[in-house]
Amino acid sequence: MKTTDQWNFISTWKMSRGGVLRASRLLGEGQRLERAVAEAVKAVEDEASYCSVGYGGLPNRNGEVELDAAYMDGDTLKAGGVMAVRDIRNPIEVACALSKLDRNCFLAGEGAMAFARKQGVAFRNMLTPAAMERFESAVAKAGVPERQEAYDGHDTVCVIGRDAGGSMACGVSTSGLFLKHPGRVGDSPLIGSGFYADSRVGAAAATGVGEDIMRGCLSYAIVERMAAGYPAQEACEAVLAAHVEKLRQIGGSCGSMSVIAMDREGRAGAATSLDLFPFVVGNAAGECRVMAVGQADGRMRVFQPDEEEWKKYEGD
Ligand code: ASP
Repeated sequence: MKTTDQWNFISTWKMSRGGVLRASRLLGEGQRLERAVAEAVKAVEDEASYCSVGYGGLPNRNGEVELDAAYMDGDTLKAGGVMAVRDIRNPIEVACALSKLDRNCFLAGEGAMAFARKQGVAFRNMLTPAAMERFESAVAKAGVPERQEAYDGHDTVCVIGRDAGGSMACGVSTSGLFLKHPGRVGDSPLIGSGFYADSRVGAAAATGVGEDIMRGCLSYAIVERMAAGYPAQEACEAVLAAHVEKLRQIGGSCGSMSVIAMDREGRAGAATSLDLFPFVVGNAAGECRVMAVGQADGRMRVFQPDEEEWKKYEGD
């Protein structure tokens, strides 16, 4: 498993670039992979202007910010997560702590918040004036919709890291869908759906409409495909295409879905049902690029958008 002296990251959405730079710096300073991945996620959780993760996240239909997060260690396959928690400044920290336990690793609501209090993590009101304003104007305009969609362009932060020793890990954090039902849990904190990491094979994570992602356990399916010998990019494309096709055939909901993956050699992959899904790739050589994947002429195209293409993109 000790394949190279390099490390690699892949993460979802443009907004994760600062976090990946921070994570790279931490690995360079000799910090552990878990710390690096958690700090990358925290950088997004702490930024008020990203309206789908942590502080500044958009509220549920009661006007409360409810957050989900999870962490998985690919060496041990141990994972932990919190669901529908309020007022926890960095839910990823609690997920990391839970991933060390053998039992009670995934906690929801009040029980998760009580665990977090015992851990001594920071609490704060996560609802910003901007998020409240957006909530009030959406409800005033159209009421609470029957069905919520993921926003195109600024959703769950997912960070996959692989250190120089070949250990892999994945962290995710989200406020889930805007105006969701209180207590609603998406794919993000569900192992195998929103994330999965196995250092012997690779790791994958997802963002988009959780109800549709979890119907295909997309992250586990991608890791299994890599175990069968597919490179990360092909695994992402094949699993997403088969799932979208299946959902179309059986009818009903097929919301937007995007996936990222990295195989044990550090090769990255991404696929999406959107026209354009930005993701970040970083490595030990100091590179940290925002890439994009999108459908073009019926095929998945991975590319580095030029300035003109970025001007058209409105998300985070
Ligand atoms: N997957 C998240 C959820 O359904 C939302 C997202 O990624 O946009 O909660």
